[in-house]
Amino acid sequence: MKPVTICPKCAGSLEQVVCAGIEVDRCRYCKGIWFDSLEVETLKAVKGSESLDIGNLKISSNVDKITEHVDCPRCHRHMIRMVDIDQHCIWYEKCPACYGVWLDAGEFKNFKDNFNGQGIVGQAKKIFRRKR
Ligand SMILES: [Zn+2]
Ligand SMILES: [Zn+2]
Repeated sequence: MKPVTICPKCAGSLEQVVCAGIEVDRCRYCKGIWFDSLEVETLKAVKGSESLDIGNLKISSNVDKITEHVDCPRCHRHMIRMVDIDQHCIWYEKCPACYGVWLDAGEFKNFKDNFNGQGIVGQAKKIFRRKR
């Protein structure tokens, strides 16, 4: 497969990062991550894989607003906006042709938190604390 090189969100260049033998592509600028089909599912279960996600949701909130005309960096089809079924605050883009997934910075970490069973409860506590 040809490597993907251009960020679908900000047009920054992507760098290859290897985790548990799986290559993903991370944007040098907005820190969003491209996962080929099923890689995100595999890596979610790998201990320490959250270290791939070096950005945070604050930094990526601007690019996260870019929801239209996001093209798959691999096959250049329009990606579909998806909502995580377990965690409705996470939106991500999925390609209908190659099933690759684009996660903005911070979203992979949230995915993993959810996988570890601390997701929604942990976040609700944090928000509650901040408001007090
Ligand atoms: Zn980018
Ligand atoms: Zn694609």
